[in-house]
Amino acid sequence: MAKPNEITEAAAYLRKSRMEEGMETEEVLSRHQKTLTDYAERNGIRIIETYCEVVSGESLYARPQMLRLLEDVSEGNYEAVLVMDLDRLSRGRMKDQGIILDAFRDSGTLIVTPDKTYDLSDDIDDELAEFKTFMSRREYKIINKRLRRGLEQSIKDGYYVANPPYGYQRIFVDKRPTLEPLEEEARFVRMMFEMYTNGHGCTSIARHVNLLGARPHRSAKFSRNSVAAILTNSVYVGKVVFNKKKHIKKGSKGNPKHITIYNPKEKWTIVNGVHPPLISKELFEKAQEIMNGRYIPSKKDGTVRSPLAGLVRCKNCGRNMQRLSIKGVDYLLCVEPGCCASAKFEFVEQRVLKHLQDILDDLMAEKSDSAQEKDTSAIDEKLVAIRREMANADRQKTRLYDLLELGEYDLPLFRERMAVVKDKMDALEAEEYKALESIKRIQQTDKAAQARKIATVLESYSESDAPQRNALLHSIVEVIWYSKAKKSKPTEFTLQINLKPF
Ligand SMILES: [Zn+2]
Repeated sequence: MAKPNEITEAAAYLRKSRMEEGMETEEVLSRHQKTLTDYAERNGIRIIETYCEVVSGESLYARPQMLRLLEDVSEGNYEAVLVMDLDRLSRGRMKDQGIILDAFRDSGTLIVTPDKTYDLSDDIDDELAEFKTFMSRREYKIINKRLRRGLEQSIKDGYYVANPPYGYQRIFVDKRPTLEPLEEEARFVRMMFEMYTNGHGCTSIARHVNLLGARPHRSAKFSRNSVAAILTNSVYVGKVVFNKKKHIKKGSKGNPKHITIYNPKEKWTIVNGVHPPLISKELFEKAQEIMNGRYIPSKKDGTVRSPLAGLVRCKNCGRNMQRLSIKGVDYLLCVEPGCCASAKFEFVEQRVLKHLQDILDDLMAEKSDSAQEKDTSAIDEKLVAIRREMANADRQKTRLYDLLELGEYDLPLFRERMAVVKDKMDALEAEEYKALESIKRIQQTDKAAQARKIATVLESYSESDAPQRNALLHSIVEVIWYSKAKKSKPTEFTLQINLKPF
């Protein structure tokens, strides 16, 4: 078994213990960090990553840093993890303890505390005796088996137990983890598939979405590879895939290290997930065909997408407006015969861009009005204080009624005192309103981000081709409602643009 002095690199995990409840989190954690850093230095260990848990949830899913640590430990990324004591890792519900200890055991990652080093992959390790103080070995085995079965069953049932992929966030259905679309990311996923099936390469897609402010979960920006990974991930058509990897434990078959083997696709198991898809099956399959080189989309096959494709709908009947070319001139028309008058395509496109420019101008004007920071904590605190005082005033009122009933106060005195309390209440209500208004104002500076996105779209529009323009507009516009009366002038149409929520 590796001694602490044989470890060269390790991660550190910091979190408060039950004993430290009630103390300042930051203070406790920085003290622990110092202890662990000192220990590491003394033993020649380099700490390459620190996981600092500031929330104190009992459940594993309420501990984001622990989830991150577990994923990295399972991948065999570290020789060891430094913690103050075993309690930091094992605290929580029984089934979570099982998951955590399993990850360490299966990957052969050591747990190093200033007092002792634990190797959970060593079954007959004396140190396990110490571990038994947390739960009996028998109990651990039973729980572990049950947990594994439960976890495996959950995956088979289509739940998603791993970290949420880009475009999704974790939710719980029937107390089991699954995915819910995260719209701010999901629209980039859709954009990637749209662009790819319209003939763009992964590098150009990566550049494009980075420009629009898309950020992957674990790095600063999208690359050719991370886009390709998204384009081939069937999670986006609602599938859950497992048996992708096989693990060979450290020590078994004479392996000195934990080994992960990636299974070929034929060996994967794919089930229908309980989560909703982000894109259609057709779109996904088209992307796979291109990826496998079986289908090469042509930009000149006469099916060039309109920049407004899928965006403009008839306000009269609700159907999608279509672009139609008549004698070399493009028109936008409602497919419902005789529904509403059509307009020249270029007029509509120009109007859309002008509307967007107007929205942007308005946002910029608002933005300069309140160039405050987004931090509302000071006002939040004030609001709490105001509401506490309001509760006090309320209690005073009740007390006044009591005193009146008990005959302690006569009516004139009661009215006099009540008037004072009511004035106070009015003043507090006015203050509360003011505080709520300023919070609203501060939160609206989110509009700066919105303005940036619109500006980016408008800037890149002129140098983009039709499918790119379409993708650009789809990234900010939800829908455009079109209406035009019959026999009206060519430009007498109205557009109502609904932007996507930011
Ligand atoms: Zn219509």
